[in-house]
Amino acid sequence: MPGFELFGAEERKEVNDVLETGILMRYGFDGPRKGIWKAQELEKAITETFGCQYAQLTSSGTAALTTAMVALGIGAGDEVIMPAFTFVASFEAVLSVGAIPVLVDVDDTLTLNPIAVKNAVTPKTKCVMPVHMCGSMADLDALAAICKEHNLILLEDACQSIGGTYKGKALGTIGHAGTFSFDFVKMITCAEGGVVMTNDKEVYTKSDGYTDHGHDHLGVDRGADLHPFIGYNYRISELHAAVGLAQIKKLSTFLELQKKNNKALRAYLEQVPEISFRRVPEGGEDSCSFLSWFLPTAEQTQSVVAEMKEQGILAGNFYWFANNWHYISKWDHLKNATTLSRISDEQEAALTKLKSTVFAESDAIMSRCISTAISLVWTEDQIHEKGTRMVAAINKVLGK
Ligand SMILES: *Cc1c(COP(=O)(O)O)cnc(C)c1O
Repeated sequence: MPGFELFGAEERKEVNDVLETGILMRYGFDGPRKGIWKAQELEKAITETFGCQYAQLTSSGTAALTTAMVALGIGAGDEVIMPAFTFVASFEAVLSVGAIPVLVDVDDTLTLNPIAVKNAVTPKTKCVMPVHMCGSMADLDALAAICKEHNLILLEDACQSIGGTYKGKALGTIGHAGTFSFDFVKMITCAEGGVVMTNDKEVYTKSDGYTDHGHDHLGVDRGADLHPFIGYNYRISELHAAVGLAQIKKLSTFLELQKKNNKALRAYLEQVPEISFRRVPEGGEDSCSFLSWFLPTAEQTQSVVAEMKEQGILAGNFYWFANNWHYISKWDHLKNATTLSRISDEQEAALTKLKSTVFAESDAIMSRCISTAISLVWTEDQIHEKGTRMVAAINKVLGK
């Protein structure tokens, strides 16, 4: 998953280009920057690499989601249907624009269950936001059909699935808009950063202005820009963009290594007939940042987690069901609507309702799931050792 594992001379060179001029901001200073425009270059590279018409960099993936929502017209009281298994940023962004997160079940794809989405549509629904978790995707055709039927926006949180594809298209470029995160542990990193991708010129223009205080970027200089609407500051810096530029040039290498290592580790787990694997929707290609696998029961899964911990081999294996960041079961701050300042009554009511909402289908899936993070720098020997020791721990629990 993480591009930071292969940080090196390329990143240093791109950052040094910026340090040479000292122009750390992405806008303006046309003379002193001596032709160095790293953020612009990275945006162009993103459109070319992932096949979308427009890309707007932001200061984080969370900022990208917020920006996309605002640019798509999602705001106060609008319901956004999203999965109960995701990263906290997904609901943070929804709340930040005054909208209502409506959490629904995931299925064995570890992403939105289209039936649960269909059942959650109300007259207030404005958007369906699949989160392509752990490298692989939601059933986008099924979700797009629901959106079409009910005239809803499809916004892809592809923050952790950079490089995955669905029916030949890059994840994040299929909905009305999509986002990536370039935080430190993502497939490619800027240290901190994110992007909104879209094929809709208006969504792009709004994203461009919103991330920079509403500037229209049409003036001869920043002071001459007009402000057609109120914006915010979600800008990326040239230093961050420079790191991302070096990383995106290495993406195909990252993906190749990741797929190879994922496949090699999977071959070990496939020796255990009780193990099944995360379903990838037809036509999808997993970025392979994680190998996600299931045991038959929650008890066995918890015992395997305990056994791996005991043997000191748990690192890099994630049991999301009990993880504070990623699953509804541990989001007490969300369910208690613990905010630092007042939120709307509508938002508060929706959050409080989550406390009594049962996510039985998600529980049944997530309580049996372990995701193993795939490293880009594993050697064959390390994979052999990892695979062998994991299988031994699993077999011990299964009594074999
Ligand atoms: C990482 C991540 C984000 C947010 O990204 P940041 O850049 O850390 O703000 C959003 N959604 C998902 C699913 C993520 O994994």
